[in-house]
Amino acid sequence: MKISDIEVRCCRRLPEAFDAGAFRTGDFSAFQFLAVTMKTDEGLSATTFGFAGRSAEGAGKLIADTLRPFMLGRDPRDREKAWHEFRTADRWWGHLPIYGYGPFDTLQWLLSAEAAGQPLYKYLGAYREDVPVYGSSMILSKPEDYAKEALRAKAEGLKAYKLHTPGKDLEEDLEAHRLVREAVGPDFTLMSDPVSTFNLEQAIRFGRALEALGYYWYEEPLYDEDVHALRELT
Ligand SMILES: [Mg+2]
Repeated sequence: MKISDIEVRCCRRLPEAFDAGAFRTGDFSAFQFLAVTMKTDEGLSATTFGFAGRSAEGAGKLIADTLRPFMLGRDPRDREKAWHEFRTADRWWGHLPIYGYGPFDTLQWLLSAEAAGQPLYKYLGAYREDVPVYGSSMILSKPEDYAKEALRAKAEGLKAYKLHTPGKDLEEDLEAHRLVREAVGPDFTLMSDPVSTFNLEQAIRFGRALEALGYYWYEEPLYDEDVHALRELT
């Protein structure tokens, strides 16, 4: 079985909520995505999506020029071989965005499972029959907006909710976390993702406040290359 065709589509989604976050990251366009379809010479087909940063056209062009020819003609079941060869190829002047390869790995898994006549979760070993799903916020304009959205997530049957707060004003961010806890009650699972907002002292203060509010996890409070601060936290 060989990969016979790959289609890369550039997608843009612009819910109003993204605009509120622009002040944190600069005045540029919203998140963009790629939809990638991989087909085989035996008539199998799978589609998934991948991140495209702030430019689906840019990422799509790079991926169409590099990953597409790299993948065509390969057996999608040889996933490990493709990954190791891609690492070397990428180092030798590919330098794709870090999110470039992910959809291609997913597609190879999907096609492998399809070729085996199984849903992917069975192909992977099927440890469980269902998984809990959580709602994840974008950057919202006001602390109260998070509480409203969390209540909606709870009403829709989601098992948890995660906040991405703006990171401009620590007290206002904390207020959003407080309001959400008050709104959903003590037993609903809540998480926080400040996305590399804090220095060490702020991260510890904020984390302690979240602990008091019964938050389940605290995701990426520090920059991932802030090794000295990260060492202090471990
Ligand atoms: Mg995150």
